[in-house]
Amino acid sequence: MILELEPIFNNIGQKLDFEYQLSLPELSLLKKPVNVKGSVFNRAGVVHFNAVASCEAAAPCDRCAEMTEKHFDVPVEHVLVTALNNEENDELILLSDMRFETDALIREDIILALPSSYLCREDCKGVCQYCGKNLNHGSCSCQAPADPRLAVLRQLLDE
Ligand SMILES: [Zn+2]
Ligand SMILES: [Zn+2]
Repeated sequence: MILELEPIFNNIGQKLDFEYQLSLPELSLLKKPVNVKGSVFNRAGVVHFNAVASCEAAAPCDRCAEMTEKHFDVPVEHVLVTALNNEENDELILLSDMRFETDALIREDIILALPSSYLCREDCKGVCQYCGKNLNHGSCSCQAPADPRLAVLRQLLDE
């Protein structure tokens, strides 16, 4: 979305609210367009960009492959500037003009916020490596193979 920010930069206390749907088909985790809601406001001469990107994800769990739906609210918070004075700050976004195209910034923050592993739950037990049963639904009757060092010890004790 393109925001016309000249009135914001030029007027302390000025605020612009926005809300729109951002489609990111290249992010396969997301099942529908992201709802972006936020505002740009000038507080004491500093222009803040604060938004929340509401993401609906749907994908198989990385561990047990069960289809899992999740909701992520990604905060997108930056300070917009039209010139840099040698500041080193990731939060500062340098605008080349007062018409700000927001999509790339929001997309970038969503990518940074998405989890590197997608799990149905934090303590997902995964599937049994022998019979393939989903261990979140109960244990299976497969025996884990005995530790070979213990087997040797047991043999010694038996003799
Ligand atoms: Zn899982
Ligand atoms: Zn099993």
